[in-house]
Amino acid sequence: MKIFHSAKEFKNYTKNLRGSIGFVPTMGALHDGHMSLVRRAKEENDFCVVSIFVNPTQFLPGEDLSKYPRRIEADTKLCELAGVDALFLPTLEEMYEEDEPSIKAPKINGYVLEGFVRPGHFDGVLTVVMKLLNISSATKAYFGQKDAQQLILIEQMVKRYFMDVEIVACPTIREKEGLAMSSRNVYLDEEQKKASLAISKSLFAAGTMVGAGELDTAKIEARMREELAGLDVEYITFCDRNLGKQEKIELKNSIVLVAAKVGATRLIDNIWI
Ligand code: AMP
Repeated sequence: MKIFHSAKEFKNYTKNLRGSIGFVPTMGALHDGHMSLVRRAKEENDFCVVSIFVNPTQFLPGEDLSKYPRRIEADTKLCELAGVDALFLPTLEEMYEEDEPSIKAPKINGYVLEGFVRPGHFDGVLTVVMKLLNISSATKAYFGQKDAQQLILIEQMVKRYFMDVEIVACPTIREKEGLAMSSRNVYLDEEQKKASLAISKSLFAAGTMVGAGELDTAKIEARMREELAGLDVEYITFCDRNLGKQEKIELKNSIVLVAAKVGATRLIDNIWI
């Protein structure tokens, strides 16, 4: 597996590959959620490239940038074992200059839900993803449905900026008990891990109600709030695939999203219905 720290050298490598390139951008502390994206990228392409970069511009002041988990040696091993062709590990200086153009998230969709709680977060996400897609020369880039709003905004950016890459949405990988895998789960102690199961339980309860024919989001939300009673819920939202709010579930066009705090840790999860 080739390892690059320089954006110029990585781009030179990807540009000269003969065949399709599947790209998986990550912030590291890799878990099976990330690796499911890697496996899919490998299956569907001639080459698979991965980046690990904890992008500072998507963290707000006071968020967990400095303590965000970093496990570069273990991550490198995992990528090597998975058969990744090249790993891009840029430094901050490779990715940003002091004063440079940046991408702005849309004024509505970029500032609801996660963007409401974390204003400016998606400006940072879209800017770094734009850079990474350009450097990686990706044919297809793989993103998790776990970060639903991020995925939708990236799809919109690629479409509206006429970018030559296909965005592939990948299902959320969960622990056996239901908790969606996340690099941030390492912040949870055993008790908090147990408490956090209420999030996936509430989503599964929503799925069961829809399966039984209930489409009224107010009723579904009330049931979800019962499950979530012990947690500090930031939002429960029902929206369509374009992040428009829904009062009624529309099969194949609804996403149920939850954000809640367990102790000091913010967790997000969702199901696509
Ligand atoms: P991150 O390192 O958290 O920025 O995530 C990198 C990519 O992995 C993003 O596209 C995430 O949506 C995706 N991802 C993170 N957790 C999961 C999961 N549990 N299942 C599937 N994809 C995930």
